[in-house]
Amino acid sequence: MSGAVAHVDLDAISQNIRTLGALAPRSQFMLAVKSNAYGHGLHEVVRTGLGAGVSSFGVLETTAGIALRASGVEVPVFAWMHGHGTDFAAAAEARVDLGVQTFWQLEAIAASGSSVRPRVHLKIDTGLHRGGADRPRWAEFVTEALRLQALGKLEVVAAWSHLSDTSHSADLASTRLFSAAVDEARSLGAEFELLHLGASAAVIDLPEAHFDLVRVGIAAYGISPFDDRSAADLGLRPAMQLRAPVLDARHGLASIAVGFGDGIQSDPAAAAFVVVDGHAAPVIEVGVDETVVALPPAAGAVAAGSECIVFGDGSRGEATAEQWASWGGTVGDEIVTGLTGRVRRQFAGS
Ligand SMILES: *Cc1c(COP(=O)(O)O)cnc(C)c1O
Repeated sequence: MSGAVAHVDLDAISQNIRTLGALAPRSQFMLAVKSNAYGHGLHEVVRTGLGAGVSSFGVLETTAGIALRASGVEVPVFAWMHGHGTDFAAAAEARVDLGVQTFWQLEAIAASGSSVRPRVHLKIDTGLHRGGADRPRWAEFVTEALRLQALGKLEVVAAWSHLSDTSHSADLASTRLFSAAVDEARSLGAEFELLHLGASAAVIDLPEAHFDLVRVGIAAYGISPFDDRSAADLGLRPAMQLRAPVLDARHGLASIAVGFGDGIQSDPAAAAFVVVDGHAAPVIEVGVDETVVALPPAAGAVAAGSECIVFGDGSRGEATAEQWASWGGTVGDEIVTGLTGRVRRQFAGS
């Protein structure tokens, strides 16, 4: 463990879920908790989500879904990223719904020998090109799924896709393509309990993509899905604050017990700063487990052990994860999800 601690405000997550849920009032709310709840701590975030009324959870791998079941989660769980070694029978028996992106997955799920009929959500590629049946092969994909369903091998419960979030007009075009694909599947005999498409950006900006259920990740953690609007602009509260103690301070420089081994950006833009004793201190160099910062004269004498805030909600003058993302040329998701196992998580709220 390093000296860095990620303080996670679970009340901020609850509040964000309520704020976002109110934007899609007719849709069920699936909270995406992939990658250890975007670095915030899977089980704590799941408990918070249940308290805030989310209707289901989304994970990448079936093993994460099975782990949620093992921890007592009863609401629907959806997993959509499956490698060739996936144990689909174990997933179905744990009542984990399966996103199906390819023909081989469809066949492997049907052949899994599960004692419970696997529930599958058929994915169509609507332009993101990150999985799903291509539009020209969609009818064949649906027909094969219906054939396997008729044999009792699986149950088709949903159609879904994922938007690229590259622009409003591209996402709107994808939404239309999705609806057309759903109509075609219905004409082939498919009956879907659920249609789902939109994630954080669509919840906020594209009501046309809300359908029966929205899959919400990053915005629930208080990070904007947009480049041109911050979490504060959207009425969201960043849930994570990263702090680390000062190791040493002299000659106007301080070394802080956090580095790229903890997952912070190794070479941020010159504008990068942290807050030491309430003062902004520009980042000079990020090492593997220490970061050197320049102390402004106003900071006076800084003692070893003083607290440094690397990022947070900005309420104490610190940068947000969104700002770190812009300094590192990436997205806020990477800043919070990228924190490594060296960083201890500490939770407040419920
Ligand atoms: C990560 C992910 C989400 C959540 O996306 P956000 O932009 O973080 O809200 C939803 N659906 C799928 C398929 C995902 O991979």
